[in-house]
Amino acid sequence: MSRKWKKKSQEEIKNIIYGALEQNINYNKQNILGVPASYLDEKVFNQDAYFLKEAPFMFALTQNPNHIGCHTTGTSEPFFKGTHEIEKKLIEICATDILKGGEGEQDGYVASGGTEANIQAIWIYRNYYKRKFSAEASEIAIICSADSHYSMDKAANLLSIPIYKIPVDEFSRKMSSESIGSVIEQAKGDGVKHLIVVCNMMTTMFGSVDDIDVMTGVLETSGCHFMIHVDGAYGGFYYPFTDKQSKLTFRNPAITSFTLDAHKMAQSPYGTGIFLIRKNFIHYVNTKEASYVEGEDLTLIGSRSGANAIAVWMILVKNGPHGWFEKTLILQKRTEWLCEKLTALGIGYFRNPKSNIVAIRATPGMEKVASKFSLVPDSHSSPSWFKVVIMDHVTIEKLTLLVEDLEVSLS
Ligand SMILES: *Cc1c(COP(=O)(O)O)cnc(C)c1O
Repeated sequence: MSRKWKKKSQEEIKNIIYGALEQNINYNKQNILGVPASYLDEKVFNQDAYFLKEAPFMFALTQNPNHIGCHTTGTSEPFFKGTHEIEKKLIEICATDILKGGEGEQDGYVASGGTEANIQAIWIYRNYYKRKFSAEASEIAIICSADSHYSMDKAANLLSIPIYKIPVDEFSRKMSSESIGSVIEQAKGDGVKHLIVVCNMMTTMFGSVDDIDVMTGVLETSGCHFMIHVDGAYGGFYYPFTDKQSKLTFRNPAITSFTLDAHKMAQSPYGTGIFLIRKNFIHYVNTKEASYVEGEDLTLIGSRSGANAIAVWMILVKNGPHGWFEKTLILQKRTEWLCEKLTALGIGYFRNPKSNIVAIRATPGMEKVASKFSLVPDSHSSPSWFKVVIMDHVTIEKLTLLVEDLEVSLS
């Protein structure tokens, strides 16, 4: 698994980032009079040359490149072309090395987060159905599991289309074909003909992964048009490494787009959602009125920080594909360790074997422990589950303390 994604040394990374910034406009040396942008205010932000020479991300922040628009298709603002190239490389790594798409066959951009990337996908498909089939908004619906992220509700609200949620089994967090079928029938009864289906690659609360074959099996016999978006905001930088047989990749022709969030599992700065979609779809949200932006604007957000794209690219190439795989292996081992301890204590939990999230069944005595260790509940008003997310800093040493307290809470 590595075509574009190669591990690089700190020296190589520095040369590439400083080289890219060099190709962007230079407000000091050139006469740039019409661009509403500049370097960060040096009275406020330390721009000590000696320090920034060794800190490519910080240097990029002070240079403040704007990555407005989408750079994988058409033309872009020439002022920041150096760092746009880094974003293109990042999108290509995510689409081809991580999600197994063909080279140059996907478009994408670094969004503000998973919320924006999900809304972007749903916006594209809504417009696609409107344009292609002259569909009314009421004939287009979002279909997703009850465990889906609330950004789907935001999308439904913003885009004025209905949303239907498929119930999941309390213990397996799975949707049965019967429940998918009956929700689709209900939507059809309401006049829906075109479906925007969201499939989860690790849900926020449970780390559960939707079975796309069960989903497509029902969709194909539904008589409705459907487009599938995969929400990998949580799992995007994890699940593709732990499940080598994953059906949630661009190799699966049923899938058209993905959301990944580098600021969830990949320890990157906030503002690093990643939106990826097969070619020939993103133009359905072209805002032609963005006439002052060269190449117009195919994204939801508008101006956005180029430093964010640089941060994610640096994280990926510093670790390299093997380093990344190893990182997930360690987290998998720690997660297994916790699950074994919970099983031994007879504490109920849900865990997808390929994920690093453990949702523990709430028991009457658990609330104090949950609050001591900042376990996140499914509902703050009446919790049924508390989750543990095994990240880099969640070591077995720390997990031991949790297990000890849980044991005490049982007695
Ligand atoms: C966190 C999350 C989102 C939203 O991502 P933000 O970056 O917070 O906007 C969407 N979907 C899933 C599954 C998530 O876990």
